[in-house]
Amino acid sequence: METSTIDYKLRQDEHENLVKMLKSRGRSLLRLMIKADEMREQQVGDIVTFVRNQNINFSNICYIGCKFCAFAAHEGDSKAYRLTKIEILDNIQTGKAYGVSEICATSGIDPKANLETYRRFLRLVREHNPDVHIHAFSPFEIKWLARREGISVEEVFAELKKEGLDSLCGTAAEILVDNVREKLCPNKLSTAEWVEIITIAHEMGIRTTSTIMYGHIETVDDVAEHLQILRKIQEETKGFTEFIPLPFIHYNTKLYNEGLARASSTGMEDLALLATSRIYFGDVIPNIQVSWVKTGVKFAQTGLAAGANDFGGTLLEERISNYAGSPHGTFLDESEIIRLIKEAGRVPARRTTSYKIIEIFD
Ligand code: SF4
Repeated sequence: METSTIDYKLRQDEHENLVKMLKSRGRSLLRLMIKADEMREQQVGDIVTFVRNQNINFSNICYIGCKFCAFAAHEGDSKAYRLTKIEILDNIQTGKAYGVSEICATSGIDPKANLETYRRFLRLVREHNPDVHIHAFSPFEIKWLARREGISVEEVFAELKKEGLDSLCGTAAEILVDNVREKLCPNKLSTAEWVEIITIAHEMGIRTTSTIMYGHIETVDDVAEHLQILRKIQEETKGFTEFIPLPFIHYNTKLYNEGLARASSTGMEDLALLATSRIYFGDVIPNIQVSWVKTGVKFAQTGLAAGANDFGGTLLEERISNYAGSPHGTFLDESEIIRLIKEAGRVPARRTTSYKIIEIFD
């Protein structure tokens, strides 16, 4: 794979400013949050969006061995699963009955899967829920499919688009700093490869989310570098729909249990990152999401006071954080999301994946 054409050389003054914001604590953190909240009000108003979506992770069989991951299992392990066609269909029908507008699907790198497996999944969704937005697969799954089939990333995207893929998950980013990635996920993607695949997706009209997974071995300098890379991509392609900070769920992971990582981020770190994201990204990535499945609903609600304007989705059946030991559940009904947003003094609105408002709950 060629390296990215985006020059993501980082600016030192910008880096220092980001580090300063990320390190804010006490009253300086409160001031940062107020600034972020004011910018949020100017940039996107008081509406807090959410999406009625469902997750379908069709296989967790994977031998890549990322140390932060407790979702993956080897064939024959007690927690290993590979959904059958009937089970996938059942999931699709459950989501349809709930009225989901988005199906989100990422899976392990299952050696028994190939491009046709992915095509079949998309066809099944299209056939049984034709209008749903399919937001699926990670840049790593795309790279692996390209390698497995001996074709280019562009060809993989073209094939998947033909079958109904609408947008790509901006996951597998973890921390976009290679010496951190070597410790977290040495068999996955390099930073340049992640940037390359995301950029190709954007150039082919496939929008993606942007994420960071933090609270393990990274430093604030690494976080600042990660944010700068995302901003550079967005300035170039405008392909990110939102930014989602994802705190590490540590409980059942090797990374934590072997003493290599801290026990996730703290609440103050979470708030500082949300506020920094709004201040740094707001003009180019106006949608900043809180992740209730990672932080719990009360903390996600608190994050709305730190610059966030999106509450994520209902999920229906979340497995990745759940397997890692997240105590925050796998489904959040939209009536509860609406209550939490209203209680935060804001206006709830259901949206599409691409942030078109479907319904405002005034
Ligand atoms: S993060 Fe993905 S690629 Fe890595 S071990 Fe888990 S399922 Fe496999």
